[in-house]
Amino acid sequence: MTTVRAAVCTGLNEPWKTEELEVDPPANREIRVKMVYSGMCHSDEHLRTGDISAPPEVLEMIGVKSMFPVVGGHEGSGVVTEIGPNVTQVAVGDHVAVAFIPSCGTCFWCASGRQNLCDLGMMTLAGGMISDGTYRYHLGGENVNRMAQLGTFADEMVCHENSVVRINPWDNMKAAALISCGIATGFGSAVDRAKVKPGETVVVARASPARGTSSRWIRSPSSSSGRRKSAPRTRRRRSPRCRSCCRSSRWAATPTW
Ligand SMILES: [Zn+2]
Ligand SMILES: [Zn+2]
Repeated sequence: MTTVRAAVCTGLNEPWKTEELEVDPPANREIRVKMVYSGMCHSDEHLRTGDISAPPEVLEMIGVKSMFPVVGGHEGSGVVTEIGPNVTQVAVGDHVAVAFIPSCGTCFWCASGRQNLCDLGMMTLAGGMISDGTYRYHLGGENVNRMAQLGTFADEMVCHENSVVRINPWDNMKAAALISCGIATGFGSAVDRAKVKPGETVVVARASPARGTSSRWIRSPSSSSGRRKSAPRTRRRRSPRCRSCCRSSRWAATPTW
């Protein structure tokens, strides 16, 4: 057993505190990751304030009394430093980005290209480890939950191998951390949900990756009206952290944490 520093919330509306946690070694199909970058997403605050807490009846169904105490953080990147038995997808020394929805690659949803609905995501906000339901983190003899089966607000993290994605060792670790939540949800909301196309003028409202970026189409350059409609000042910008993935769309909704 080792110790690790982590930002922990011990109860509803309690502040984040730096605590020294006891951490068990990685068990079956689990890995230890030394965190390099971790982002502060508003979903972590939603968890602290109860806005995305699982209902009591759901917690009871999965045998969990409370979501607290919890290690925050569900976006980040790091280096694998230890692997448990039967780990096949990563090795010691691999660079990884975390995934706040684990993906097994074999369930119905994963096999049909909808990894975001993977069966393993059922207990992503509460509960023990994916592998066996027990806990690896302990504080004063009490088991500690982890945000999204991760807990990136820590020097090191023990998680299931399906909760990370291996990246190239030369990939930008900062960008990898942002892509693991902020870019995926912010960029995805705009491009997949709002169907924004290059050249359109948009209003970026509530640019929070947690709530989804609400981007409204205001005016198309090809509009036949020939008259420019007035619109609020538009913030079209490209995040300096995502030039590679957002080059074609020429803009990105930058998370505002
Ligand atoms: Zn997030
Ligand atoms: Zn799956």
